[in-house]
Amino acid sequence: MTLITRFAPSPTGLLHLGSVRTAASAHARARAAGGRFLLRMEDIDQARCRPHFAAAIREDLRWLGLLWDGDVRVQSEHFSDYRAALDSLRARRLVYPCFCSRADIARAAAAPHGAEEVYPGTCRCLPPAEAARRVAAGQPHAWRLDLARAMPDTPLFVDDEAQGQIRCDPLSFGDVVLARRDTPASYHLAATHDDALQGVSLVVRGEDLRPAAHLHRLLQHLMGWPAPRYAHVALKLGADGRRLAKRDHAATVRALREAGVAPGKVVARALA
Ligand code: GLU
Repeated sequence: MTLITRFAPSPTGLLHLGSVRTAASAHARARAAGGRFLLRMEDIDQARCRPHFAAAIREDLRWLGLLWDGDVRVQSEHFSDYRAALDSLRARRLVYPCFCSRADIARAAAAPHGAEEVYPGTCRCLPPAEAARRVAAGQPHAWRLDLARAMPDTPLFVDDEAQGQIRCDPLSFGDVVLARRDTPASYHLAATHDDALQGVSLVVRGEDLRPAAHLHRLLQHLMGWPAPRYAHVALKLGADGRRLAKRDHAATVRALREAGVAPGKVVARALA
């Protein structure tokens, strides 16, 4: 089987050494195996993504020699695909509409231990007829996964390159949003859909997304999509020991290029 990896940046800023590390790792694995390396623009959040960042990312990758195979998949051009996946989950009542505002959720979930916000399930308990009436009336709503209904009876496993077969446990996500009020997809649904569509067999990404693999494995199961293997890359830290962020201009490919650093050196620095 051909190894297929991908780099899937969200074009909300310039490429920096942290993302170069992920891209270079995915690229190297594909090339070493005679496989394919794909590029995908995860630009469903139209409020934060900018076309000029998408163009800059492509240009920087070319300059770095991290050339991708085939066409770039641009998620904002495929909202109907994600809508169809959501419709399939809706038809099986695995998602429900949530009418809560951000403020409602923050109030209900205010947890003294400061845990990640987990939705308390308020709208899960709405009578189906009332939920359907409010949707039909055009009340703004998101779609949430009904995690209790979605969990299979037999365990699932996440195939993690470093950790082996890990029991899939997405419960920390709670009833996660799969489609927002203003966007017909969330990152989780769109990324999982596209990994399946594009035949990605090895998902290489930052280790901050390690927990997401559990939720993604569940979505793959629910949608009948193949389960790829996951390789999580250690996050690149700045000189201050903090994770590099898009605002750290000095660590962007642009800044390094302008400072006269050669492309190979930039990749080596990202991987170091
Ligand atoms: N679009 C995500 C990001 O830029 C990466 C998602 C993924 O690799 O699955 O952070």
